[in-house]
Amino acid sequence: MTEADPSGAEGEQSSKLAAGAGIHRIAVPTPFLVGRVNCYLIEDDPLTLIDTGPNSGKSLDELSRALNALGHSIEDLELIVITHQHMDHLGLLEILARRSGAEVAALHLLGPYLENFSASATADDAFAMEIMRRHGVPADLATVLGSVGASFRAFGSSGHVTRPLRDGDDLVLAQRTLRVLHRPGHSPSDTVFWDQARAMLIAGDHLLGHISSNPLISRPITGEPATGRPHALIDYIASMRATRELALELVLPGHGEPVTDHRALIDERLRMHERRARKLLQMLSPNPLTAYELASRMWGNVAVTQAYLTISEVLGHMDLLIADGQVLERDDGEVARFAPAQ
Ligand SMILES: [Zn+2]
Repeated sequence: MTEADPSGAEGEQSSKLAAGAGIHRIAVPTPFLVGRVNCYLIEDDPLTLIDTGPNSGKSLDELSRALNALGHSIEDLELIVITHQHMDHLGLLEILARRSGAEVAALHLLGPYLENFSASATADDAFAMEIMRRHGVPADLATVLGSVGASFRAFGSSGHVTRPLRDGDDLVLAQRTLRVLHRPGHSPSDTVFWDQARAMLIAGDHLLGHISSNPLISRPITGEPATGRPHALIDYIASMRATRELALELVLPGHGEPVTDHRALIDERLRMHERRARKLLQMLSPNPLTAYELASRMWGNVAVTQAYLTISEVLGHMDLLIADGQVLERDDGEVARFAPAQ
């Protein structure tokens, strides 16, 4: 998948609106299925780059040329802001920070995570292996998927966060103030930046226009002892509802084109999750099923090639149904299975 088709006149209008605010979208290539990732250059004091693209020569080259075309260079960057922990968004962090000497701002939870990216990613992979084992993914498939994941790790990067941000903080630039809002769900560190005066939101992967954001089950990064499985979709829905309340004219997402009607988009996403939960509920039988069995029934072969993504989806919707009293989770100490509540 590459970039979404520009949405015609409206897309052009949105880009003009953003450019008028001194924000330029730079879509950098990634080796991932999602296609290009959006970095945003904010021409302000300090000169700010939101997200970096993955750690690859091709991405660095394209980013560098795009900055040049706008009359800047990597060395000119004064502040780098990271929206979340995924490597397509932060892989060039170490290189860009070293070459520019820019400050690095990110959610405070990301500081320890980024100090040693490789160790964090290894811990994430071990966590994912345990989730897959517990939810019925065959061991040989989990092993193959684990090694595929590890082979992509070099696209990430460590980095030193010099300005840790907290939910509700203001990131103040000369010509604008960005309110920092923690919006976990797609990842535990999702952070969005709200320019209240311009009714604009820089959203990372919290809200995407052309595809729904994956509520991946991720290893908690709060440092507190884990209490059961993380509830990524429940968190994500709460985050979307909070974003729905913001007054916004333009959302600048981490992939694809700008979003102009965030409430309609969020309502559509919420309905999609309700539909999916209902469909999965209908697939349940008195004979309890694992998340992997449910994913295979729902998505066929995609449940094999994208086992982690699809069991994350199933578990998220089981969590909604459990919270609603419609499903029970039974755990024999080895494998968890789901059945209708009555
Ligand atoms: Zn992401």
